[in-house]
Amino acid sequence: MSKDSSIAERFAEVRQRIAAAARQAGRDPAAVTLVAVAKTHPADAVRAALATGQRVFGENRVQEAQGKYPALKAAFSDLELHLIGPLQTNKAEAAVALFDVIQTLDRPKLAQALAKAMAKTGRRPRLLVEVNTGAEPQKAGVAPADLDALLSLARDLDLPVVGLMCIPPLDEPAAPHFQLLAELARRHGLAEVSMGMSGDYETAVTLGATCVRVGSALFGARPAPPRA
Ligand SMILES: *Cc1c(COP(=O)(O)O)cnc(C)c1O
Repeated sequence: MSKDSSIAERFAEVRQRIAAAARQAGRDPAAVTLVAVAKTHPADAVRAALATGQRVFGENRVQEAQGKYPALKAAFSDLELHLIGPLQTNKAEAAVALFDVIQTLDRPKLAQALAKAMAKTGRRPRLLVEVNTGAEPQKAGVAPADLDALLSLARDLDLPVVGLMCIPPLDEPAAPHFQLLAELARRHGLAEVSMGMSGDYETAVTLGATCVRVGSALFGARPAPPRA
């Protein structure tokens, strides 16, 4: 079996599982966007996914995306690119220039940098605030207790915040984190809830995800990252 046909089969299976989980929860399958996380995989893998009709992709590094997507975006004007990895303030302008959605707003300094980059470039990618639902030290995301303040700063800066995202702690069941994120989004009147990865996207859909971020279940295992 060729690599492209196995990618096509994996996309078909994941889409079908998302739809089944949505229906089982009484939700419209069309209310869930599959973000195909192509990090570490070459542009050819993205092309194979595009051939199946997939248009929404996620990357976690600005630099990697800068190498991969300009040509793909030129060829597919409806390709939508999401940044799902941590963003340094000095890369805010590059991120605003390339991405259509930035899911990892998590601190006041970055809110300021994004506002500045949007004013300068005239581009306004939609933003999600990353919430550290496990309140884990060292981890990206705003603590739930600091979410109100960050959202009100974003409003003051006129940032287009449309939702929340989370990455639950690896060593805990994800469901309580998904429930908390969905509840926080509801409380703040935010429509988009980004949660669920290869191992738990069906649970996330059941609990209200509008956006699941799936990598290895679609593109296969990633090579282990080099050790720092
Ligand atoms: C890599 C990554 C994913 C996808 O992970 P898989 O387990 O391969 O599906 C989702 N979200 C974020 C933030 C990621 O960095």
